[in-house]
Amino acid sequence: METKKKDIRALTKEQLREFFVKQGDKAFRGNQVYEWLWQKSAHTFDAMTNISLETRQLLEEHYVINHIKVDTIQRSKDGTIKNAVQLHDGLVVESVLIPTKSRTTACVSSQVGCSLDCKFCATARLKRMRNLNPDEIYDQVVAIDNESRLYHNRPLSNIVFMGMGEPLMNYNNVLKAIDKITSPEGLGMSPKRITLSTSGVPKMIRKMADDEVKFNLAVSLHSAIDEVRTSIMPFNSTFPLDDLKSSLEYWYEKTGKRITYEYVVWKGINDSNEAIDALVKFCKAVPCKVNIIEYNPIDDGDFEQASPEAINNYLRVLERNRIVVNVRRSRGKDIDAACGQLANKS
Ligand code: SAH
Repeated sequence: METKKKDIRALTKEQLREFFVKQGDKAFRGNQVYEWLWQKSAHTFDAMTNISLETRQLLEEHYVINHIKVDTIQRSKDGTIKNAVQLHDGLVVESVLIPTKSRTTACVSSQVGCSLDCKFCATARLKRMRNLNPDEIYDQVVAIDNESRLYHNRPLSNIVFMGMGEPLMNYNNVLKAIDKITSPEGLGMSPKRITLSTSGVPKMIRKMADDEVKFNLAVSLHSAIDEVRTSIMPFNSTFPLDDLKSSLEYWYEKTGKRITYEYVVWKGINDSNEAIDALVKFCKAVPCKVNIIEYNPIDDGDFEQASPEAINNYLRVLERNRIVVNVRRSRGKDIDAACGQLANKS
């Protein structure tokens, strides 16, 4: 029965070696298959050309490879590419390749939909359907790496967990995927080139710090005033800013890594001087930098990008307080690939 077969990529290398020993084969066979599964990212057992037909049939009897399938590829006029990725159970997530002069970045999803309810984000409308497995996250990266080589003649240089979902609500699988991405047995990428973006789950930020992870942390802040933040990111009532701040202090103490705050400025919501002062105060807690990101309208609803003057006010006051700040232009807007626009529209 198809459905009884196990996902072979849920096995560790050791478990795969044990499987072969039990079958009367050499443990080393496990290493070979493991290399095909991860480093060579084989989609089928038949692709494993240095494995005998008999062994491939044995694997076929016991296991499946739940490889993702890139269903549709959309290409923006700015070079951004969006993949709609079909999972083995038919659900779909999206991932994005963002090329700039000096880097190509993969923006990958961690969940199908999202359990959080940020009012300005299209993914929130989908609700959370399920967590992605480590291999499903890994496959997205491999797919984007291939496209980067094909369309931009260079390998992928960076990864951001800023696609669909809240990575800290699927922490174990995200961590396993990152382990594979950074391992020489996987893609061998440096963790310094990986950024996990979270809406801010204090308990999990502390856990990450305890785990001494080596990748970077970004927090979607958007407001440093509890009342305002709760109105646009309702889960903030469960994880208020004081709690978030103390978890970030803990993170910095343990990792010594500066934090990036993502921040959209909206008309009438956080474009006041009071909002700016609150952000400045919040930024004093730990070394950080602020990325002001452009708002990508998801419908004709309640949110509207603030005026250039309001954004300039932010820049002026932050810089005066010696806080590093960048303004990030949107990419791939014409194909709904920009921040907050991932919603399986096509
Ligand atoms: N759940 C994670 C990662 C996904 S969202 C997080 O919250 O960080 C990636 C980034 O896009 C976040 O900073 C999010 O706040 C931002 N974002 C969401 N909707 C947006 C929109 N419509 N326009 C611009 N940025 C948006």
